[in-house]
Amino acid sequence: MTKETDQQYEQRMKKTKAAVDERVARAQQERGTLIVLTGNGKGKSTSGFGTIFRAAGYGIKAAVVQYIKGTWPCGERDLALTLGIPVEIMGTGFTWETQNRDKDIAAAEKAWAASKAFLEDDSIEVLLLDEITYMLTYEYLDVKEVVAALAARPHNQTVIITGRNCHPDVIALADTVSEINPVKHAFEEGIKARKGVDW
Ligand code: ATP
Ligand code: MG
Repeated sequence: MTKETDQQYEQRMKKTKAAVDERVARAQQERGTLIVLTGNGKGKSTSGFGTIFRAAGYGIKAAVVQYIKGTWPCGERDLALTLGIPVEIMGTGFTWETQNRDKDIAAAEKAWAASKAFLEDDSIEVLLLDEITYMLTYEYLDVKEVVAALAARPHNQTVIITGRNCHPDVIALADTVSEINPVKHAFEEGIKARKGVDW
């Protein structure tokens, strides 16, 4: 390939800038969005919490409901609580550890009640529902009810949903969907999960 001249580079950058400017000008709607972070790769919950802390950096009110990871230590949860960000925790630990369906359903419903309260609170501008996808996979929560509550949330509220195998009805409602693909994971090589990185 022949090397691009400075002039050609300038032309190409001008075109790119024009295209970007046009797209920015077209994005005129002001509203909160529904963001889904799904897939089997690492980085869903940390991304969700990253957005919560990004909002908090501007003094924007955020909240978190953590489904599943109740009894585990969790650095981001502790930091959120330190910052005064409300975090509701389902609190049963992983289901394959508890193996008590009725108890898990009751815990899921309690976490959902907390989620619904946040979904009706227009002072909360960013809400993370971490690992909620599993509640729909296991049918602990009713997908129609969840979708209806998400759709009826305050206009300015952004909701972030994380977890593998997100239900298609939630994906259909979402504005932004990222699927994280596991190209590699250290765990597969026998490397232990690390404090501060994996939890
Ligand atoms: P993180 O919390 O690090 O952003 P995640 O939310 O994308 O990860 P989860 O499925 O919730 O992923 O799993 C959380 C834990 O499992 C983390 O310790 C993470 O490093 C690990 N993990 C994530 N993806 C994989 C994978 N593909 N193989 C093995 N372990 C994984
Ligand atoms: Mg996660």
